[in-house]
Amino acid sequence: MSQLRGHPLTTARTRALRSPLSPSQARLPLGFPWLRQRVAHFVDVAERDCELMVDLQAYAAATGITFADNCAAQVYWGPVEQRRPVPLLAVNLALVPTCGEADQVLAHEFMHLRWPSYGHKAVAFQRAQGLLDRLAAPVAV
Ligand SMILES: [Zn+2]
Repeated sequence: MSQLRGHPLTTARTRALRSPLSPSQARLPLGFPWLRQRVAHFVDVAERDCELMVDLQAYAAATGITFADNCAAQVYWGPVEQRRPVPLLAVNLALVPTCGEADQVLAHEFMHLRWPSYGHKAVAFQRAQGLLDRLAAPVAV
């Protein structure tokens, strides 16, 4: 479920996801307020809630999972015997510099939240693209 450290095909499929943002919007540097708002939009279109975390040390403390330096984002449901009511979504801002890249990363992670059994099959990325297609591009970034 994490990215960049994964299989090259998974990385390529994530980078091939098409954001609904205009090219100029997609190039804008990612800021936390925009990310938080975008996550809320993904929650709506994926119909799955999550708690956004960008403090990776706090994420490690909460989950016991050390966030790999080369991992862009990760979803955490909790241990099998004690699932969290709301999964965590950790985003490594250092590896997601632009709004367009954030859309690709969020589509990938929300695909896992919505269809956890799909893994990284081709159909999973078709679903991830479907989430992006349902997002309305925000007027202001
Ligand atoms: Zn993944």
